[in-house]
Amino acid sequence: MKILTVVGARPQFIKASVVSRAIQQSDQVEETILHTGQHFDENMSDIFFNQLGIPKPDIRLDIHGSSHGEMTGRMLIEIEQALIANRPDRVMVYGDTNSTLAGALAAAKMHIPVAHVEAGLRSFNMRMPEEINRILTDQVSDLLFCPTSTAIQNLRNEGFDQKNVDCIQVGDVMQDAALMFARKSMCPQSSEGWPEKFVLGTLHRAENTDDRARLAGIVQALNRIHSEIAPVVLPLHPRTRKLIQQQGLELNVRVIDPVGYLEMIWLIRHSELVMTDSGGLQKEAFFFGKACVTLRDQTEWVELIEAGANELVGADQRGIFDAVARNLGREVRDTEHLYGGGEASQRIVEELVKAHL
Ligand code: UDP
Repeated sequence: MKILTVVGARPQFIKASVVSRAIQQSDQVEETILHTGQHFDENMSDIFFNQLGIPKPDIRLDIHGSSHGEMTGRMLIEIEQALIANRPDRVMVYGDTNSTLAGALAAAKMHIPVAHVEAGLRSFNMRMPEEINRILTDQVSDLLFCPTSTAIQNLRNEGFDQKNVDCIQVGDVMQDAALMFARKSMCPQSSEGWPEKFVLGTLHRAENTDDRARLAGIVQALNRIHSEIAPVVLPLHPRTRKLIQQQGLELNVRVIDPVGYLEMIWLIRHSELVMTDSGGLQKEAFFFGKACVTLRDQTEWVELIEAGANELVGADQRGIFDAVARNLGREVRDTEHLYGGGEASQRIVEELVKAHL
């Protein structure tokens, strides 16, 4: 069977890397990879293809940087053309970006079945572009690969068990990736060396970066943590860097350029704590036994909160500072295998084959 995979953003390259690997080991599935170009910088895109051994995209679009509507619309047009030319049996999309939605919608309108990896996740915050993308993508998919039991329950609550679709709990492909690449993790190059104890941060969600008060609260908290608790290492998303400058805010922490996945795993493993508004990083902290302070008001990964591994603190300066002080160096344990234990990609390929029979 012929699968056309649509990717476009950093977390999708990481997720697709392990599934593509499992596909290559199967003699029943042939994959064509389409990269929309949503993320295009060397350190936001190509580095992941090189480090993680993802096959070079067969189709490369160049769509990025515009408004949500324009980006998604242009993707729809060009993905449709690629589908007409390639005629796949199925389209596979990952996560919750504009590339996810455009891929799913283009395929569904052409009556090509859609598999959604990371289906069923909800923040219940419709102001997040990701929430809109994931809800709509689930609606037009017929194979919904869910990472957690919460995701399955969310789909049930929305009536998916009454529909002619398969909602399957396969586990989390990000755990597969973390396990697969952990031994290859490597120290990011730095002329200055790394502090023995540091807090690792990332910041890129629109709800934080596009709201001046939230961004200012987080920047102040990072500066205070850096000077009073422990050095903060911040691989900064290019969008966030631009917005911090535009807002005239001053960041006094150890800012570095975004790093590859192997370097990121190294940083997580050597950190005392992770603070982030990233979805993926909340789980990676957990996979490597680190507590996480999440700079958001909701999370899709509620089991981490229930397990006491993650604390949601929003964007309030004092709240962030106190949570970091409370959690620094705290170890967490995955005693219940919340994310499936690293076999999600294999399961996905088996289910793809089964659905095609
Ligand atoms: N990541 C990376 N380098 C960085 C920052 C993040 O490799 O400089 C990885 C991170 O480890 C995780 C993924 O990118 O696997 C998360 O992507 P992001 O935070 O952009 O998206 P989200 O998970 O929030 O959708």
